[in-house]
Amino acid sequence: MNLQELKLTTPYLTLDVEFYDKSDIAPLKKPFLISYSQDAAEILGVDVNDEDFLTALCNGETLLEGSKPFSMCYAGHQFGHFVPRLGDGRVMNLGKSESGWNLQLKGAGETLYSRQGDGRAVLRSSIREYLMSEAMCGLHIATSRAFALIGSDHDVARERWEKGAMVLRMSTSWVRFGTFEYFYNKQQFDKLEQLADYVIVESYAHLEGKEDAYFLMFEELIDRTALLLAKWQGVGFNHGVMNTDNMSMAGLTIDYGPFAFLDDYDFNYICNHTDTQGRYAFGQQPNVAQWNLSMLMRALSPLVSIERMQEALELFGEKYSSYYLGFMRKKLGLLVEDEEDLSMLRWLFGLMQQEQIDYTYFFRTLSHYDGEKSTLLEMCTLEEPMKDWLEFYEKRLLKEVTSTQERQTQMCATNPKYVLKNYMLEYAIDKAHRGDYSGVDEMLILARTPFNEHPKAEHFAKPAPKSMKNLKLSCSS
Ligand code: AMP
Ligand code: MG
Repeated sequence: MNLQELKLTTPYLTLDVEFYDKSDIAPLKKPFLISYSQDAAEILGVDVNDEDFLTALCNGETLLEGSKPFSMCYAGHQFGHFVPRLGDGRVMNLGKSESGWNLQLKGAGETLYSRQGDGRAVLRSSIREYLMSEAMCGLHIATSRAFALIGSDHDVARERWEKGAMVLRMSTSWVRFGTFEYFYNKQQFDKLEQLADYVIVESYAHLEGKEDAYFLMFEELIDRTALLLAKWQGVGFNHGVMNTDNMSMAGLTIDYGPFAFLDDYDFNYICNHTDTQGRYAFGQQPNVAQWNLSMLMRALSPLVSIERMQEALELFGEKYSSYYLGFMRKKLGLLVEDEEDLSMLRWLFGLMQQEQIDYTYFFRTLSHYDGEKSTLLEMCTLEEPMKDWLEFYEKRLLKEVTSTQERQTQMCATNPKYVLKNYMLEYAIDKAHRGDYSGVDEMLILARTPFNEHPKAEHFAKPAPKSMKNLKLSCSS
């Protein structure tokens, strides 16, 4: 089917009027297509045979059949403080495809929920979100997706003048923990029920009609969130703004802002430079997720017994640890479970932190391990501690039944060669600011196939240049 034939519906608009605001999209001046994701087009089931049409769609100048733009209302805990009304301040929903993807334009102008904002998104942050959603999908991590990215000649005021851009993004759900908190705070419990029913149909269809559906939804979300966090930690992803309004009711990664992949392993790494207390530091993320779930639990308390939810939530830590350890065992090429694995892992992390070793590069190099230690030892200033660890690891491998070759193949399919580190995104952004958008597509290839070899991009698989490591990002986007 051609993109032009795609039809949308707007089930969210069947909810009460307090849930959304219908507003008009404000297109950008002189839009142009920068890139689109072929893979995202495929999952939508469409062919892009007219790029002008896609550009007009991305700029809100053309609407698909059935599309009725609206923005969604929500609240949220931002850095621990409750804000009673947030909402899509710069996002316009277009509607939902038959295949279940809710399309949105980010940066489409002011909405009822814009507060002091201008409703715009600048080029650099749009490039980041576009590439990163596709990268997370490439890493098999649950996420919203990005279909296309446009640039424009539209001036947008930030710390300096920048150009406006828009991402046509899509997700199986855009409902946030904060959407429930909004109605809980207003004591509108009938709305909570409407919303829970909506979320079940949209993201937990197998629970539809079950007597205990609200509790089961919460219980499953705990599980999905534990798995998501295990993957974030395992791949070295720091979200940066884990406010409850950025937490997905479907257990997805959403709202990409000042995120980062780790360069050198650092448990305390903070990617968001406004996060002076380190609330959302890399190592804190699983705890924050649990705290966020407890805020959601409170918002759901008029619908479900809080004691039952509390009991379920207490299992978060156990679930997370089990997913995490399972994931890390795979990264180490271990299929057999051994009780010393956790201490071996802690030993390794201590070493990596001490020696400032690049997280992704280390695991990818280890994936080729055959007893030859030099490439791994070269990553360290002091070789002895790493040598000791590798000797222990080698003994541990003897408990495995797989051959070296099988282990290497499995590890290369688990440990990405490429993650989109901030300096790589900066490379694409710098080029784009000079009018050359080829860096975006260059990074998109690495994002989509991070486990493959890409000989021309070999340098991006190495640690970042020292001056560009562990950058801190601003929220201003
Ligand atoms: P974030 O943490 O980026 O997800 O954003 C927090 C809130 O601020 C959300 O409600 C956004 O819609 C809103 N927001 C962020 N930037 C803008 C902007 N430029 N204009 C209007 N609202 C914005
Ligand atoms: Mg947000």
